Amino acid sequence: MKIIEPHLHMYSRTTNDYERMAQAGIVAVVEPAFWGGCDKTSPASHLDYFNHLTTFEPLRAAKRGIKHYVVLGMNAKEAENTEISFAVIKGMQAFLDRPNVIGIGEVGLNNNTPNEIAVLKAQLELARKRNDLVVVHSPHVPKLAGIKIILDLVKELKLDPKLVCVDHNTEETIELTRSSGCWAGMTVYPIKLSPARAAAMILKYGTDRMLVNSSADWEASDPLSVPLTIAEMKARGMTPADIARIVWDNPRQFYSHSQKFRVE
Ligand SMILES: [Zn+2]
Repeated sequence: MKIIEPHLHMYSRTTNDYERMAQAGIVAVVEPAFWGGCDKTSPASHLDYFNHLTTFEPLRAAKRGIKHYVVLGMNAKEAENTEISFAVIKGMQAFLDRPNVIGIGEVGLNNNTPNEIAVLKAQLELARKRNDLVVVHSPHVPKLAGIKIILDLVKELKLDPKLVCVDHNTEETIELTRSSGCWAGMTVYPIKLSPARAAAMILKYGTDRMLVNSSADWEASDPLSVPLTIAEMKARGMTPADIARIVWDNPRQFYSHSQKFRVE
């Protein structure tokens, strides 16, 4: 089965991972800009990172037969520093027209603070102005309150919910995200959400506007989380067509809003 991995961080992964992913059927990946484990001390560090994601990474992926796309943004974890954040938002605009950049992300909230909300709001406004899709990171704790703030902003700024993916949903938040009309991402991450829990949510709520990703990064995570979830969906009796909808049709539909996303 062919797979699009809609959210992971190859910046923190090895080339062996690309090889294993290709063997497992992953033909394209989308990498959102994120927090690298240590706060950056200047806007230039973020821009160098964006340069890496738009030059080195697509070449490294292509050598293993994988198409590599990115969404760029000022991440939530470092957004408390508004001086750096607003300089990054200004500087990143020169990168948004690069060939593998298909939208804005991952932006969002970490502790739901006023500064984080201001940085998120500016980037949602930029997405609306450019008619770009946007991938939004929801906070780990308190998640439900954070998703409420995010969805209120999407409404207030009159963004098209079909161009917004609210990520890292759990059983606690999935209904709220789905009721907004936005895409609902679920991250299968060993210590946070098992393949079994993700499959159970898909069986309960259906395949419409649902995305499964690994968010694989430098933490305990697995770039083969989506293939593992396929096995779980099969074991629970889902049809091949429904499974393909989750791992191929849905990410393809969401990201194809960008003319640059071409995966056949
Ligand atoms: Zn991420």
